Amino acid sequence: MISTRMCVACKTNYPKGELIRFVIQDGTLVIDLTGKIEGRGCYLCRKKECMNKAIKRNSVFRSLKVAPKKEALEKLLSDYVD
Ligand SMILES: [Zn+2]
Repeated sequence: MISTRMCVACKTNYPKGELIRFVIQDGTLVIDLTGKIEGRGCYLCRKKECMNKAIKRNSVFRSLKVAPKKEALEKLLSDYVD
């Protein structure tokens, strides 16, 4: 069985490996490329639409229950957007 996780923007379930996992590490938002960083994580799919939505609505920060830092998220996602 493939484990799935929900994208915080479109609320669709995807196989874990297709999603970008965010986690707070030492108070900073990071992308967990290994999927092994401990702590509360949240997931975002790779649709540009979802990335934009997540930035606009602070979905990632809300899900992680931390204060929103839009620029930090934009910077992280810039590697994923064309
Ligand atoms: Zn999505």
